[in-house]
Amino acid sequence: DVVVKNICCVGAGYVGGPTAAVIAFQNPHIKVTVVDRDVTRIRRWNSKHPPIYEPGLRDIVRVARDGGRRIVFDSSEGAADKTEVGVRPGNLFFTTDVGKSIGEADIVLVSVNTPTKYRGVGAGSATDMTAFEAVTGVVAQFAREGAIIVEKSTVPCRTAQLVADTLNMHRPGVHFEILSNPEFLAAGTAVNDLLYPDRILIGSAPTPSGKKAAEALVNVYNAWVPRDRILTTNVWSSELAKLVANSMLAQRISSINSISAVCEQTGADVDEVAKAVGVDPRIGNKFLVAGIGFGGSCFKKDVLNLVYLADTMGLPEVGEYWRQVVKMNEYARDRFTNRVIKCLNNTLVGKKVTILGYAFKKNTSDTREAPALEMVKTLLEERPREIAIFDPCCNPLVIKEEIRQLLGDVDELKNIVVYGNGYDACDKSTAVVIATEFDEFRNQPPPKPAVPAPDHTVKMIGRKPNPKADPRPFERPEPSANDVLALHKHLLQRDGETSSDPLGRYNPEPACSED
Ligand code: NAD
Repeated sequence: DVVVKNICCVGAGYVGGPTAAVIAFQNPHIKVTVVDRDVTRIRRWNSKHPPIYEPGLRDIVRVARDGGRRIVFDSSEGAADKTEVGVRPGNLFFTTDVGKSIGEADIVLVSVNTPTKYRGVGAGSATDMTAFEAVTGVVAQFAREGAIIVEKSTVPCRTAQLVADTLNMHRPGVHFEILSNPEFLAAGTAVNDLLYPDRILIGSAPTPSGKKAAEALVNVYNAWVPRDRILTTNVWSSELAKLVANSMLAQRISSINSISAVCEQTGADVDEVAKAVGVDPRIGNKFLVAGIGFGGSCFKKDVLNLVYLADTMGLPEVGEYWRQVVKMNEYARDRFTNRVIKCLNNTLVGKKVTILGYAFKKNTSDTREAPALEMVKTLLEERPREIAIFDPCCNPLVIKEEIRQLLGDVDELKNIVVYGNGYDACDKSTAVVIATEFDEFRNQPPPKPAVPAPDHTVKMIGRKPNPKADPRPFERPEPSANDVLALHKHLLQRDGETSSDPLGRYNPEPACSED
């Protein structure tokens, strides 16, 4: 049997960092090293403030990296039944020494970015495999014989063949097993998703050595994931299932958004329609909330990846079917922005418009493909006096820089103001647009001390506030994952610390201290 003592994760991003941290946290006997060529990212992972925000991530990293008492969660949701076992040494490392770490590993997880190609053959839909291919080359050079190479990145179906060919070209005759183990975590709930996954999917070659390799990875996850939640398939099914899962999730959002357009013309209420439809267990009520469309680095690219696959396999009807999911998403976003402009008498001249929420979803600082960015672009064309932006998780300087990169150094940039709190962002606004469903934007209490009633019109456009939602502080929302809070409480007790921002949600300093 393969004994796994050393895992190397290549790519310290939104997936690689949290995944490696949880694997290390749950397997104290395995040394887990995360490598990246990005020096700044690695430095941040080695600091008190990880480079990405996810509820609970900072504490998991701290325990796994720096050691301390280990907490074992039971397999049910929530951490009420956690038990503690003695002091553990740190087993999570972050370094830029890519070759050396790969060379020491029994398992190499490849978790680098695989965006959509924006130029050349397949531009706009094919996957840009530059980073993945580069890492495969490095793996081929440094991996030790018999190492298990795992595709963690979302890749086109049949990539495992390319990996095998590359390895064979560089190291003919040397045996490697290639597994597919796509990640299903969602930004904003990454730690909870990793602690309590719906399923772990592992695809392997159907050969005895392929199955042995799969079993080695199964054992890593089985440290905390019940065996019946770990699915093993052939490698092509695993690669394709990830694309299909994201495409179907995106499809549901586009479906309900298309219905919301019909609702507005007919007097039906899309929330009522979604509720009535979703109670049918064959349909289900999840992912049926109409809004401004999906964002994020994955949905669009993974649907397009499927489109490209279908097109290149001579299945244009299939490609066209899925392409429509992306088209509908863009339609939903633009329809919403145009509605904002229409509500304001088709002119924004002299007006201030506030956008609350900039990240593509709540509880994340991930702004990739955020609908808010395109919205800003469209609104700016109407020459508003100001577009005010506030996001509880994102660094204002990062938002400003991203907008500058999209628009270039245009004069109108001065009309975009990114605020550090929501009250200032809304002050004297003509319209407040809720672009991300952060809980703290619902049932907002008045600021303290109370400000005089504004003498201007504020129109709330977008989703209605949820009357049942708890009012929360505007600037610093609490994380939602109970287990993470329990873990945090434990750490506070252990260390006798107090902190006003325990989970490091919002760190206004652009460059974090690195002690
Ligand atoms: P990311 O851009 O946050 O991180 C990728 C990291 O890889 C970067 O830090 C980059 O510097 C590093 N990298 C690139 N080339 C490298 C090289 N040659 N050597 C060393 N490091 C290198 O990307 P991500 O969001 O973590 O996504 C990674 C993969 O996981 C993608 O395929 C994505 O589709 C998939 N995925 C993402 C999510 C998500 O929510 N973000 C969820 C599931 C799956």
